[in-house]
Amino acid sequence: MAYAYDDQNIFAKILRREIPNSTVMETEHTLAFNDIAPQTPHHVLVIPKGPYVNHDHFAAEATDAEIVDFTRVVGAICAGLAIQPGEGGEGYRLISNAGETGVQEVPHYHMHILSGRPLGRMVKKAD
Ligand code: 5GP
Repeated sequence: MAYAYDDQNIFAKILRREIPNSTVMETEHTLAFNDIAPQTPHHVLVIPKGPYVNHDHFAAEATDAEIVDFTRVVGAICAGLAIQPGEGGEGYRLISNAGETGVQEVPHYHMHILSGRPLGRMVKKAD
């Protein structure tokens, strides 16, 4: 499958430092920053620095080092927020939207980390 990456998307501009961000964590391959319109008290976005459009693109074409780094950053932020279930934390939700069905707004792969209030059921029932 050929994936088309648009380097004018807003997260590509954040990675090029063309627009500012509120950085939570940065590593060689990964950047995590606060969502500009948080939907929960904690709402962090984690993105790979490489040009991947969504999870299946990242899983297919990223290097092992990129995948390990991304996974560890997501985990570290969840741990750092002290929101692990079972350890006095209240838990969290990870979401990665893809394409039209997933209602993906920004076409650069990202993981949402949401926590800080009860989130309700995962998906609304169809009408
Ligand atoms: P999506 O719908 O693509 O999964 O989510 C995109 C997310 O990016 C949204 O939650 C939106 O609030 C966030 N977002 C859009 N533009 C910006 C921006 O310029 N800066 C930051 N920090 N977040 C953004």
